[in-house]
Amino acid sequence: MRLFMPRLLILVGFFLFLNSPSALAAGHAFNANFTVLVEAKPSQEQGQFVAEYVLDRAETLRGEIATEWIGRPIPTGVGRTSITVHFHPGIESALTWAKDRPTRTLHSVYLRTTPERVQQAVEEMLPHEIVHVVFATQFSHPNRLPVWIEEGIASRYDDAQRMAIRQETVTWWTQTGDWPQLATLFDAKNLHASDATGYAAAASLVDFLLSRGDKKTLLAFAADGNATGWDAALKVHYQIQSVSRLQSEWQAWVDEAGRVAMQHRWSSTAGQASRGTPPGN
Ligand SMILES: [Zn+2]
Repeated sequence: MRLFMPRLLILVGFFLFLNSPSALAAGHAFNANFTVLVEAKPSQEQGQFVAEYVLDRAETLRGEIATEWIGRPIPTGVGRTSITVHFHPGIESALTWAKDRPTRTLHSVYLRTTPERVQQAVEEMLPHEIVHVVFATQFSHPNRLPVWIEEGIASRYDDAQRMAIRQETVTWWTQTGDWPQLATLFDAKNLHASDATGYAAAASLVDFLLSRGDKKTLLAFAADGNATGWDAALKVHYQIQSVSRLQSEWQAWVDEAGRVAMQHRWSSTAGQASRGTPPGN
């Protein structure tokens, strides 16, 4: 997720971490693009191992995501980023605080997990955050992408469990007719981590737009939408007349996708049932 919580809170947490006894022996790894700091739990060796692992994954993801969406890697040393891994029991979380003023020199990524889960948590959460890093570098402040498009794209890199939860939300809309309003989503300046509806809508809408055009079109639409308004950008890039028209076309697309998925499940269940019944019995 992109930063949403008060900056003071983050700063306090970060400095508490830096000043904690365990941080005095933190794992530390860096290259031209990333500096990684990992709490040394349960040992300095483990902290160092995790720091080097995170550095390697972050560097690989930076190259892959930039190439996939922008068509080329970001030059070395541009958009330098610090990644802090903090261990704390409870809900795992991740956020990216992108550079938003000239005096800040780094993007900052924070991951919270436990020593036991760290490798899996990095695999599950880091790709999403590196999407924010890549786009915050390519579309730097004050020209950031709209939050819903960036979160929608980042959500494509989430783990299967997070995607399944979002799908449940989408299915609920189709069953109840209680759809989120895209005009509201377009105006959102941030999506709170607890806003399951907002994330599900952002991810689904990005999926829909990618069914109507390629990644380059989506990014051009995002930039134009920011500059000229969404109705105008929709007409230019998707030949859709307005946000309200997008709302109805998106809903119809989600409904249809749900019907196809249901039919697929039904026919595969029926196939399994018939295979499980010996002929003649
Ligand atoms: Zn995000």
